Amino acid sequence: MKFHTKNVHFQEKLDTREVSKTKPIYQTSAFSFTDLEDMEDFFQGKKGYMYTRVGNPNTDDLGKGVADLEGAPAGVASASGISAIMGGVLAVAKAGDHVVATEDLYGGTYQLFANELKDFGIEVSFASFENLDQVEAAVKENTVLLYTESVTNPLLRVEDIKGVVALGKRLGLKTMVDNTFPSPYLVRPYELGADLVAHSATKYIGGHSDVSAGVLVGGEALVAKAKSKIVNLGANLGPFDGWLGCRGLKTLSLRMERQSANGKKLAEHLRGKGDLGRVYYPEFVSERGNGAIVTIDLGENYDLHSFFKNLDWVKVVPTLAGVETSVTYPVGTSHRPVPKETRDRLGVTETMVRISVGIEDAEDINGVFDRALEAAKK
Ligand SMILES: *Cc1c(COP(=O)(O)O)cnc(C)c1O
Repeated sequence: MKFHTKNVHFQEKLDTREVSKTKPIYQTSAFSFTDLEDMEDFFQGKKGYMYTRVGNPNTDDLGKGVADLEGAPAGVASASGISAIMGGVLAVAKAGDHVVATEDLYGGTYQLFANELKDFGIEVSFASFENLDQVEAAVKENTVLLYTESVTNPLLRVEDIKGVVALGKRLGLKTMVDNTFPSPYLVRPYELGADLVAHSATKYIGGHSDVSAGVLVGGEALVAKAKSKIVNLGANLGPFDGWLGCRGLKTLSLRMERQSANGKKLAEHLRGKGDLGRVYYPEFVSERGNGAIVTIDLGENYDLHSFFKNLDWVKVVPTLAGVETSVTYPVGTSHRPVPKETRDRLGVTETMVRISVGIEDAEDINGVFDRALEAAKK
């Protein structure tokens, strides 16, 4: 099956006992046993479910569905992107170990790495992954993991995943990639050799801004280890949220196709204006497109506050990837905890706006930004 077909039919082969056209929601905290033999069957691995924190068909489908699209043998869903990342890191690193992570991390991941992991005894160093020599220089005796993102936020740096994987292999380290921004429609890090791939399914996998969820995919053994962390730390996803994630996932390829095409059109349109500080849009993410996030630096010619006041139907929201076009202000949200000095070094400015391009008509999207910019012109 090709990607679009596989994408929409991912769930059907997962359970053959059903007669309903779509998967029902197993809105239950536990599954009953008919007798003690039946109970024994669960523990022998002959029967699927016992207790929802440990496993539920709706959440399992989401993990398996994303794994399938990523070309990975196993996947597990969790309560959020952050808990999927946590599960992945804890599957590889334990107290006394060291992780090298990219410095241009998603803000929430930065918080997890900089503030929480050290309480688990795991040390994290941040390095510029643009320069793999710097990454190698940050590796220590006790380093076990290289951690990066396939396309970064908000500057949209496209990671050299093959290069990071090769470095990891040479040094005997695992590699983990957050693939939230491009989604498996555009990039499949597991196929490029990464050991673990994490997603905030809150974003493109869900696609409708109505669910918080995460997915971690990889090989059987590592994912099983990550799943036991997720289960034992209570970071499991609820059945309805798993179901919503699956409903969203079915249209991933359709949405990404349209959103990437719209993203490219908007980036070109905004670049054509010539008086914006800068328009960030990747040169090349994949043959299928370059994604649907466009970051603009308003620069000196536009007033930031008027721009945000004149966005008409475009909402200002601290998330991305929904079917509706939205914008966010990185310095005021995701990068608020990042020290100004680091922001300056990364190039995240006070006049920067991140646009998440939706599925509307490209002409309408371009038009709404034309009007906002016109109103904001100094
Ligand atoms: C949103 C996001 C996360 C965190 O996901 P949650 O679902 O909010 O926990 C991690 N990485 C990236 C790149 C994200 O955009």
